[in-house]
Amino acid sequence: MTSRVIPLIDSRVAMPPRAVHEYVETPAVGDLADKLGRPLRDLRISVTDRCNFRCTYCMPKEVFDSDYRFLRHSDLLTFEEIARLAAAFVRHGVEKIRLTGGEPLLRKDLHKLIAMLSPLRTQGGNELDIALTTNGSVLARKAQQLADAGLKRITVSLDGLDDATFRRMNDVDFPVRDVLAGIDAAAAAGMTPVKINMVVKRGVNEREIVAMARHFRGTGHIVRFIEYMDVGTSNGWRMDEVVPSREVLQRIAEEFPLEPLDARYSGEVAERWRYRDGQGEIGVISSVSQAFCRDCTRARLSTEGKLYLCLFAHQGHDLRALLRGNGAQGLTEKKIEEAIGRIWSARADRYSELRTEATPAMPKVEMSYIGG
Ligand code: SF4
Repeated sequence: MTSRVIPLIDSRVAMPPRAVHEYVETPAVGDLADKLGRPLRDLRISVTDRCNFRCTYCMPKEVFDSDYRFLRHSDLLTFEEIARLAAAFVRHGVEKIRLTGGEPLLRKDLHKLIAMLSPLRTQGGNELDIALTTNGSVLARKAQQLADAGLKRITVSLDGLDDATFRRMNDVDFPVRDVLAGIDAAAAAGMTPVKINMVVKRGVNEREIVAMARHFRGTGHIVRFIEYMDVGTSNGWRMDEVVPSREVLQRIAEEFPLEPLDARYSGEVAERWRYRDGQGEIGVISSVSQAFCRDCTRARLSTEGKLYLCLFAHQGHDLRALLRGNGAQGLTEKKIEEAIGRIWSARADRYSELRTEATPAMPKVEMSYIGG
């Protein structure tokens, strides 16, 4: 049987990636801005397109089945290549790098990559803020090694405490207790506060909202409730399955009064709220009901080295070709830096602001491929 090709847009399907030299003007180096005046501050790096979960809103089993063609190992950027690109992004003003996937902890020896990135310094001479997002499935046994390598912060995805609900959402029958053990191990390794991301889907886990708030209140950990998004083209997204953040806050405030907190920095994705009784804070991420594209300073690097300028983009820019071309020496650091600058300065993405009833059906890259 011929292997099925998943109807998403990237180099494995039809569209060749845009060659960097297509961008003619504005060689930009150093602290640059895109067409909407947004600087480049955050880089999300997907280190694998594989995952051991099949969360229905991200990697539904029907699509990511045994026929699905994941990337070959030789397609992936090596740790050396990732570190080279990361250094170029940092020279452009990146201050935070988030390692993602798929499930990043499935990539062998990930702590070695963290150790390679840790010596990087921001333009201001500060330590780079290195974070990681994981489903927590193997975190309990890796947390200390990651922290020892220099990982500062960790975000764990957990879509509910009710075991049946969680198993249904991850669709591989994975138990809640192992993720909770991972969170405890991360805290014990000093990566606190742990952030916990819960995607809320109406008709599936909205009854878990208050239970999650109740469980993590007073622990110092921060739960962020994420509106279900029309990422990629495989999750069958519908607007009526979105629980707007306003409703999430209302449900929690009925039991635990809340008050707003200021953003820590411009471009912070989560809107922060604290419990009036001082038992900590929560966050809401409202890409559907309250677009935040105006402050979006995030670039995404796919596992095989394509630069995406928006979570909902459908086309990437092949940076791996710059590293592996030219007789495998690749281009000089300066040329790579200039290429990144040209791409970013031409950026005008703001999908969430432009979302309409028609846009969910547009071809978009899969979230599991560029790491949320
Ligand atoms: S939709 Fe795109 S531009 Fe808007 S906040 Fe998300 S990633 Fe940024």
